[in-house]
Amino acid sequence: MQPNNISIRNKLILMQVFTSLIVLGLCFGIFIITDIRSYKLRKENDLLSLAQLLGTSNISAIEFQDNEAANASLADLQHMSDDIVHATIADKNGKLFARYKKPGVQIGEIPPSLSRRKSLFTDNRFYVASNIVSGNEVIGRIYIESELSELALIRRNKIEIAGILLVAAIILSFLIAVVIQTYISRRLLNLVNTMQNVSSTGNYDQKIANSGKDEISILVKEFNHLLEEVKLNQQRKDEFIGIASHELKTPLTSVKGYTELLNMIEDKQPNKQYVQKVLQNVIKLEKLIQDLLDVSKIQSGQLELTMKEFDVDQLIDETINSVQMITGTHSITRETTSGNVTISGDRQRIEQVLTNLLSNAIKYSPGENKVSVSSSKTDKEVIIKIRDYGMGVAKDERQTIFERFYRAKGTSITISGFGLGLYICRDIIKRHKGNIWVEEEGEKGSAFYFSLPLEQNGRIH
Ligand code: ADP
Repeated sequence: MQPNNISIRNKLILMQVFTSLIVLGLCFGIFIITDIRSYKLRKENDLLSLAQLLGTSNISAIEFQDNEAANASLADLQHMSDDIVHATIADKNGKLFARYKKPGVQIGEIPPSLSRRKSLFTDNRFYVASNIVSGNEVIGRIYIESELSELALIRRNKIEIAGILLVAAIILSFLIAVVIQTYISRRLLNLVNTMQNVSSTGNYDQKIANSGKDEISILVKEFNHLLEEVKLNQQRKDEFIGIASHELKTPLTSVKGYTELLNMIEDKQPNKQYVQKVLQNVIKLEKLIQDLLDVSKIQSGQLELTMKEFDVDQLIDETINSVQMITGTHSITRETTSGNVTISGDRQRIEQVLTNLLSNAIKYSPGENKVSVSSSKTDKEVIIKIRDYGMGVAKDERQTIFERFYRAKGTSITISGFGLGLYICRDIIKRHKGNIWVEEEGEKGSAFYFSLPLEQNGRIH
């Protein structure tokens, strides 16, 4: 698993548990080693004292070559310690003088290195050796061999206790980590959720409650500050768009009026053709400015609807006729009708929605020649569908194309536009308590739908 895929919460928990594991493991290791070393030291001292005592008590036996007495004194070891399995007294020439062997125990040779040293630990045996001195003369050497069963037991016990303590400490450390990390990650998660929410809804009014001075608090503070800034900039931009489009509208209306007048009185070619070109572009500009004005009205909540009753099918037919008049490429056909339903709504705004969807259907199906419109009625609503056979809308963009200034990736380079039309349409439909959406249709193209709710008697709320 990639480290970047593990959540911060789990990373922090793992870090804390591993740190505890390493620190406690080291502490227990040192503790066991020290304990075993002090046990060995104690054991060495005890056995060496015993060897010296036995050596001293056997001086006369060696001097008088009394093997029996020496063997008898070594045999007493059987009662002194259960661990001692073997003891040997050698004379000054290294020749065996007396020996004790614990019955039933397999005994090997005394390691040769013991002729030069006082003690020796092997895997399961411990040896000590001590000179037997009479006056200033070394008259012999005593060796004692002891089992280390007690050491193995001590070692096993210590490791068991350390293991149990380690597991308990790790569990405790895990629980503490979970509690602390939940506190940290809850705040981070809250931040992440708010960020995702802001980016998906575009609502910059959200603020995260914040107190404290740690790094997360600073992050939250900066994020809140950033949101404020973005909101302020949005407001400034919206204000600018509102003022600019308002200021542009008045002179443009006058330019349009005079151009229309010129178009009426001018007969000569190519002048008439030029005037008509100017008029076409002025109409385009007028549409853009109107869209910008609508957007700024939506933003400031000032887009008002004038509700009146009207016949939906009649409006659809009229709109098709007026769009058909200005398109030379496509034929707009009417498929089904909803049976002359009357609804209460803003007729002009619904016409704006229809015009926009029809213009888009034509604009985004270059090279094609048809667009079809149908309407149907259910118990609750009337649904209008505008179907084209053009480039269609990619699945992942079917929501986003309704956002302000959004233009689909495939179309934005080849076909001009500002990404405002669908945003305005969605707002108008929402204000009528309806829905607007796009679906994939057939092999080619797309179908834009919008619904307007009806009352039981066929009228809108
Ligand atoms: P504009 O057309 O000015 O770009 P709109 O808000 O009307 O703005 O449309 C937003 C985007 O949705 C367009 O840029 C286009 O990519 C996509 N779109 C709209 N209508 C259609 C359609 N009928 N077929 C394919 N794509 C469409």
